[in-house]
Amino acid sequence: MRLSRIATLLLIAVLLCAPSDLGARTLIHAGKLIDGATGDATAEKTLVVEGKKIVEIADGYLDPEDGDELIDLRDSTVLPGLMDMHTHLTNEGSPHSYMERMQLNPGDYAIRSVVYAERTLMAGFTTVRDVGDRYNLTVPLRNAINGGIVPGPRIFTATKSLATTGGHADPSNGMRADLQGDPGPREGVVNSAEDARKAVRQRYKDGADLIKITATGGVLSLAKNSQNPQFTDEVLRAVVETADDYGFMVAAHAHGAEGMKRAVRAGVATIEHGTFMDDETMQLMKEHGTYYVPTIMAGKWVEEKAAIDGYFPDVVRPKAAAVGPAISGTFAKAYAAGVKIAFGTDTGVSPHGENAKEFVYMVEGGMPPMEAIRSATAVTAELLGIQAEVGTLEAGKLADVIAVRGDPLDDIGILQSVDFVMKEGVVYKLAGDPGPVELVTPKD
Ligand SMILES: [Zn+2]
Repeated sequence: MRLSRIATLLLIAVLLCAPSDLGARTLIHAGKLIDGATGDATAEKTLVVEGKKIVEIADGYLDPEDGDELIDLRDSTVLPGLMDMHTHLTNEGSPHSYMERMQLNPGDYAIRSVVYAERTLMAGFTTVRDVGDRYNLTVPLRNAINGGIVPGPRIFTATKSLATTGGHADPSNGMRADLQGDPGPREGVVNSAEDARKAVRQRYKDGADLIKITATGGVLSLAKNSQNPQFTDEVLRAVVETADDYGFMVAAHAHGAEGMKRAVRAGVATIEHGTFMDDETMQLMKEHGTYYVPTIMAGKWVEEKAAIDGYFPDVVRPKAAAVGPAISGTFAKAYAAGVKIAFGTDTGVSPHGENAKEFVYMVEGGMPPMEAIRSATAVTAELLGIQAEVGTLEAGKLADVIAVRGDPLDDIGILQSVDFVMKEGVVYKLAGDPGPVELVTPKD
């Protein structure tokens, strides 16, 4: 009994190791293929994967040769791995979030973030931007994922967001006076150009990949105003110029139009949420090539929770009720105006793993399903500057591949039930079941 179990496990291990160890191939039979490169879906294709990469996409269903592994997805639509440009992998919103800040240690957040990262990957998201974490924990999380120690998406992290004193990401907001201290550039609080340069350089030293600023007030912080501008032009310029020196893009959280305009003029790469974006801001974003990351889901989530007595602190509740319902209308207007839209959800406000719900809201807002999919694949890859590696399914690119049963062009909602996930040639989920994550090792 015991021996046969060991033999079975050995056989499984050999089978799982075979493709990378023997240089053999994995063939994926795709009933339907959305490659993200073209605006059309095609039928009956074979993706040939060797090591980390797609080496060929052939017409029809190729027969496997000796040693090839075959993955039969003839009843499914195969797509590039999805990308979410606005996540918070160390957090998840709950009525306890505010108290937990006082009670939890970095280790508590670290352990949770490992679980959240795995959920994100299993939902079909193979790449994310993290735009605000706790204790810089997304740096070791990113490194552990890259090293094959834990399963998760490829992470580009901003680490701790930058704010001005009392601004949306000032970590001491709402605390009693003797606990507030005087957070500075290291903690992400800046009030001058010099502070801004130091804060950006500190994030470089901490291992960040990009910079996040909170250009206006926000909803969930313990402060009254969700819309006022919170950075001067001078400080914004210092952030963007210093970020440029280190090859960092700048992501700007913004709800009110004035703060948004200042950030766009200063040269940020993305506007997050963009709730009260006016026509002038949309024009400005088109001129500057600024991407809009809508996070409609976050708006819907805070709107829903604002209706529950006691869910949010008193100072947050009216902001949530005002900001939440406005985002979907802004998305529809910005899309119609031709602003570039990069998929992002603010997951970590809402529960991890539900990221694909955003697609439903985008399609409701007037975006055709294929464009919504491209906004989370080809467009996001271009924003991150990794379009040569990922974002579309083409020979020579990394094998970040997902699949859903049925056709998301008919029913975008099925993207919420991804049942196949491959990242860099490694299968993490097959037929809806999580893969043998303990055996995951990165391929060369
Ligand atoms: Zn956010």
